[in-house]
Amino acid sequence: MSKEKRFRYIDTAVIHAGEETCPRTGAVDTPIYQSTTFAFDNANEGAELFSHRKDGYVYTRYGNPTLNALEEKIAALEGAEAAQVTASGMSAISTCVLSLVQGGDHIVSARSIYSAAFDLFFRKLLAWGVEVSFVGSTSPDDFARAMKPNTRLVYIETPSNPILNVLDIAAIARIAKKQGCLSVIDNTFATPINTRPLELGVDLVIHSATKYFCGHGDAMGGAIAGSRDLIRSISVETHRDLGGVMSPFNAWLILRGLRTLALRMERHNANAMQIAEFLQNHPKVEKVFYPGLPDHPGHDVARNQMRGFGGIVGFVVRGGLEAGKYLLDNVRLCTLAVSLGDTRTLITHPASTTHVVVPREKRLEIGIFDGLVRLSVGIENVQDLKDDLDQALAGVSR
Ligand SMILES: *Cc1c(COP(=O)(O)O)cnc(C)c1O
Repeated sequence: MSKEKRFRYIDTAVIHAGEETCPRTGAVDTPIYQSTTFAFDNANEGAELFSHRKDGYVYTRYGNPTLNALEEKIAALEGAEAAQVTASGMSAISTCVLSLVQGGDHIVSARSIYSAAFDLFFRKLLAWGVEVSFVGSTSPDDFARAMKPNTRLVYIETPSNPILNVLDIAAIARIAKKQGCLSVIDNTFATPINTRPLELGVDLVIHSATKYFCGHGDAMGGAIAGSRDLIRSISVETHRDLGGVMSPFNAWLILRGLRTLALRMERHNANAMQIAEFLQNHPKVEKVFYPGLPDHPGHDVARNQMRGFGGIVGFVVRGGLEAGKYLLDNVRLCTLAVSLGDTRTLITHPASTTHVVVPREKRLEIGIFDGLVRLSVGIENVQDLKDDLDQALAGVSR
């Protein structure tokens, strides 16, 4: 029998939580259980497993030991009783939300959320008879005003894409609780190293594990963490039926990635802060969005609820659309790619790429200015990153 591990701190939990030496083989690393199905000892055991009288593995869509190790690790990091992993972040969002609402219900959602989540709410949920009110401001009072008698769910994301709006998590969770409805947060940008929303009163935390959790840009995944009862109902009543199952290989890659999450976030936080300050003092840059900067409108709230300000920096290049495109065409170290949370620095220019089909007025409404560039600052040497941005910015004509 292995001794139970003892530890207190999150930078130890990223390594040890959810994982143990295999009692049968002594294997130290969690194996990839690349098996879809698990045999029963006899018919009676099958009956007990299916009627939930006994815990055990049946079929990978219902549960798998590699996925389970990842679920226990993520639950420990978020301070949750339980977690459910899914095939992608969007699978976590759709599974969670579809599990909690039905036709006739109302959702209060932040307007500034991941674009596919917004599309899911705006296109699908509305068509299925779920009412959604989007709150464009960061004021908790506006969330309170949007509540209705049939509100079942308050959905938020902070800091949010792409201009890093900061929401007061505890204040919004209190508003939801007061009305007896659940609050859900997408904690992908902050990660539990920087923010632990359950401690601030939120009911469920969602992640795109594709981003910082994996950290190396090589596996997609998602997760939902919360109380045992909520996770059990999401898992048994919805996840099994929607079927967005993570592969055991991806779970293994994400377990591997998570072991360095605390170290990586420390470097992401430090590099992003330095890049934000460098850009703020650069003559070719009009504006910088980073919650760590004292003049960011959400700085005080962020200081209260974040241990570090994260690795995403938004900035507006002087010269609009053409300047943004020029910058992207002339960086030599940053990689031109969507996604975020990778070890390497990724750079995007939303107005000419991800949001190119959105009409300009709509774009400006959600903060996507012509010259807006988003950096997912990696963990390279920060001087190399500054040098790269500096040489590319030098050619931008004013
Ligand atoms: C990427 C992302 C998602 C979606 O995750 P996928 O793994 O791509 O499905 C959701 N929320 C945020 C904040 C993201 O950055």
